[in-house]
Amino acid sequence: MKPYLREKVPSTLKDIPDSTAYEAGYLVTKNAGWRNVCPVIDSEKCVGCLQCYLHCPDGVIYKKDGKVDIDYDFCKGCGICKKICKFGAIEMEVEK
Ligand code: SF4
Ligand code: SF4
Repeated sequence: MKPYLREKVPSTLKDIPDSTAYEAGYLVTKNAGWRNVCPVIDSEKCVGCLQCYLHCPDGVIYKKDGKVDIDYDFCKGCGICKKICKFGAIEMEVEK
């Protein structure tokens, strides 16, 4: 499941689940603010093999038009997608 923001941000303790069994994808804020490098996909080189999609630890790569795209709101810039891509379709660029 892709990460997503809850529509209602918890404002009292009652709004927060009692246990650690949170629903998958549960987030209350975007978490890309501390990323210092950013994956960029070259759609000309991408063959849509989905290896990056399968290996992204945060589930932020999604299928799009037979290829892939990245949800930059939640990508942490770990670079695993670049390492796994055998086609050289992903480069890590320094955040501006
Ligand atoms: S691993 Fe590379 S070629 Fe395969 S879908 Fe991802 S970007 Fe495209
Ligand atoms: S840099 Fe890491 S978190 Fe971001 S898309 Fe690639 S594998 Fe996923």
